[in-house]
Amino acid sequence: MSIRTRFAPSPTGLLHVGNARAALFCFMFAKKHDGQFVLRLDDTDLERSTQAFADAIQADLDWLGLKWDETARQSDRFERYDAVFETLVAQGHVYACYETPEELERKRKRQLARGKPPVYDRAGLALSSDEKAALEAEGRSAHWRFKLSGNQVSWRDLVRGEQKIDTASVSDPVIRRADGSWLYTLPSVVDDLDMNISHVIRGEDHVTNTAAQVELIAALGGEVPEFAHFSLMLGADGSGLSKRVGSLALADLRDSGLEPISLNAHIARLGTADPVVPAHTMQKIIDGFDMARLGRAPARFDPEDVTRLNARILHETPYAVVAERLVEIGAPAQVEFWEAMRGNIEKFADMQDIVALINGPITPVVETDDAEYLAQARALLPDAPLDTESWSDWTGRLKDETGRNGRALFMPLRMALTGQSHGPEMQHLLYHIGYDEVVARLEAAGKH
Ligand code: GLU
Repeated sequence: MSIRTRFAPSPTGLLHVGNARAALFCFMFAKKHDGQFVLRLDDTDLERSTQAFADAIQADLDWLGLKWDETARQSDRFERYDAVFETLVAQGHVYACYETPEELERKRKRQLARGKPPVYDRAGLALSSDEKAALEAEGRSAHWRFKLSGNQVSWRDLVRGEQKIDTASVSDPVIRRADGSWLYTLPSVVDDLDMNISHVIRGEDHVTNTAAQVELIAALGGEVPEFAHFSLMLGADGSGLSKRVGSLALADLRDSGLEPISLNAHIARLGTADPVVPAHTMQKIIDGFDMARLGRAPARFDPEDVTRLNARILHETPYAVVAERLVEIGAPAQVEFWEAMRGNIEKFADMQDIVALINGPITPVVETDDAEYLAQARALLPDAPLDTESWSDWTGRLKDETGRNGRALFMPLRMALTGQSHGPEMQHLLYHIGYDEVVARLEAAGKH
């Protein structure tokens, strides 16, 4: 069997990290098994779906590096859903109902008051053609429900293990509204079948839907795919993510300067007992992924964890991975430079501050007491060209000459050459600033 997964967002909003997790799991599972990953845009809601959101979803997946093999749009497939629907009605799997939302709500309350589960009473199924005609003459139009069997549906969920749902305890789902528009169930099932989806991987909020979907698949004579329902993601404080979508939209995380690999590495392990490990390639994350490792407890997402992982990843990132980006920000295109400086950054953009220190201009900072010391420093600067040994030669000479040591020895030099009291090691800065510029900065400092 060839493995095919699908990520099926509705283009009615921006993706948040919870969606990214679904997409990542679908992608990794497919890639791990030499399968294919399909992006399906669930845009049956024509009012709320927009091209701008569809574009944003694709931009987010591109950024994450989750390449998909095919794109499908539900809005291209309405004719197909109509045809399936007609067959299901003709076969008696789908029936017309005429209750208004208020009438349904009243029924629900009455059932609850009698201590009964609020399951739809199938009044629609009992209507004769005359009764239906009379209701339509009143100006009502039918919405449509799929008739569940009342049997138990079971499946072996790849995350949750053995699952059983008694469909007698679930209302027959409405699959089509009175205005003819689709609810999620039928299009999703028809697409999963038509697109040969082998594994449906999604959040556990869809577990109950699965029973109806399995029965619908059976009604259509299709083969039931494997299911994997992973636990939901919560914010670090335990709040549901959706309430804080704004702050956790992928677009915001991207704009905050995080590396997509850090987000992938973090969310791939979230909700498992396995430690999060830095990764530089998607392949490494895929190799370490095992659906069976996912636990059932909700996964808590804290953006701070990703920031910390981002720093760890950058601190170990090989030069070749970032070489082009270093050129783009005007950094020296040298392995030595990257390896010397990467330990000082949390986000790649921080490297721009280091480049600014090296390229200047900077404003030297000089304490009045240090003017003479800096003049001595200028005199004892080793000859051009400076290299990574020059700093220890220079400060060694200055120590012998002035008797200074520790902070009194180093800090005036750092302040004069960078204008800051902290930063990357002077050994490397001195070398990369270069002889002429070091002289110019020391001379400028002498004029303060
Ligand atoms: N469009 C559905 C959602 O976003 C897809 C669910 C599924 O994966 O089946 O919830």
